[in-house]
Amino acid sequence: MDALFNYLNLIGPGDLVLYHGTLTDAHGLWLAMPCPCNICHAMDALGLPDVRFALIDPWGEQPGPFHARRASITRSAACG
Ligand SMILES: [Zn+2]
Repeated sequence: MDALFNYLNLIGPGDLVLYHGTLTDAHGLWLAMPCPCNICHAMDALGLPDVRFALIDPWGEQPGPFHARRASITRSAACG
């Protein structure tokens, strides 16, 4: 059921998301991008399904949290 739920809630690059992870200061709306760091790229190259996201301020391009877990973000209803 979790896999199906995740499939139906796929987050693509540039999607507006709500962050609700462990960094409470960063809770709110962000643009989700695939995390560009070497660690996450290495994980991706290994075929691990644990996709991480880099979060970007949609208004100021201010960098937000990196390596955000899929479970820590929800696609915003605002982007249809
Ligand atoms: Zn990363």
